Amino acid sequence: MESKTRDFQHVDYLWDEAKAASLAGDEVALLLYRSNLLGADLRITNFGGGNTSCKTMETDPLTGEETEVMWVKGSGGDIGTLKRNGLAGLYVDRLHALKKRYRGLAFEDEMVGLFYHCIYDLDSRAPSIDTALHAFLPFRHIDHLHPDAAIAIAAAKDGKQITEELWDGQIAWLPWQRPGFDLGLKLEACLAENPGIRGIMLGQHGLFTWGDTAFECYINSLEVIEQASAYLMAHEGKKRPVFGGAKREALPAAQRQAQAASLAPILRGFCSSEQAMIGHFTDDERVLQFVNSADLDRLAPLGTSCPDHFLRTKIRPLVLDIPADADLGDPAAIKAGLEAPFAQYRASYKDYYETCKHPDSPAMRDPNPVVILWPGVGMFTFAKNKQTARVAAEFYINAINVMRGAEAVSTYVSLPMQEAFNI
Ligand SMILES: [Zn+2]
Repeated sequence: MESKTRDFQHVDYLWDEAKAASLAGDEVALLLYRSNLLGADLRITNFGGGNTSCKTMETDPLTGEETEVMWVKGSGGDIGTLKRNGLAGLYVDRLHALKKRYRGLAFEDEMVGLFYHCIYDLDSRAPSIDTALHAFLPFRHIDHLHPDAAIAIAAAKDGKQITEELWDGQIAWLPWQRPGFDLGLKLEACLAENPGIRGIMLGQHGLFTWGDTAFECYINSLEVIEQASAYLMAHEGKKRPVFGGAKREALPAAQRQAQAASLAPILRGFCSSEQAMIGHFTDDERVLQFVNSADLDRLAPLGTSCPDHFLRTKIRPLVLDIPADADLGDPAAIKAGLEAPFAQYRASYKDYYETCKHPDSPAMRDPNPVVILWPGVGMFTFAKNKQTARVAAEFYINAINVMRGAEAVSTYVSLPMQEAFNI
């Protein structure tokens, strides 16, 4: 197995046997080691996205008997920097016992509170909503990841068929469902219906892969992501140009920067109508390819797919209708021209909130855009601080990667509005 496993083109193989050997016998340490390696490569999972777990036999302090414990990433944090104090340790038999308490989909949120009654390790981080996704799969090591390449297939109109064909039935498919207790039960049922599979693709969302050891799980995850990436690469630009081809040219780099610097303070003013925001600008080539493309007008309004992308970037970006080389010498005139598009964006956000809200929904968020695309120039992102603004840009690039991949092999499908709202 090991000789073929080093040969990856699309993901970083980072496993160090000497390091792993020094951790032998400590499954939790091996879980953390694997998690940190996976999180070091943004092609494997986005920042803060996904979670990992392992199951071990421990002595139950209450009975002195052996009991199975699941160690899973708790709420918050990133697997790239996951440490022991970021894990929740839970009794597996108690998690299974919760099935008897489950009253159905309308009540699944109450199950998160019951996870606290399943805690084995008193130093546990708060259990996350994804706990049930790992609990009912019997494997010793499990990865749940958000690789752009896998989400591209998960967000393709023919994603189910592509998944079946690409992995020869070894990766099963579950249609989109909001992460929660019920999705955990669906994963369990999916495995029962498809014994012997190596993973499960979650429609519009991401990937589940597993193994008997930390290393086998790591290799399984890398191989599946590698295959997804290679498949997309083989199709990109073949049937039709990427994103329908370029509709316009980008300005030269120096001019892009100058135009962005002139417009940034004005955009920041608009985006700070509710609270002061910090801006970030990028003219990354993936961004330019998207904002300059023929498909921008069709794809940008659809919104993002993976729940993480949506949470960080809002449902959709604001696309500026300003020529890239516009003369920005008169800020008052530029400002006047932007009043209407911002008012429209805020109104459509309010509409979305009013249409989708439930009686117990939190108050409406700031209705200003997080992501602003400027054809020919690049992308601005606005958030409460520099890091969040930069991360929002990273996430929209993830979303662009997903759209590019999905469109290369099929038609991109975004998360339905109501589902996005419910996250
Ligand atoms: Zn996820």
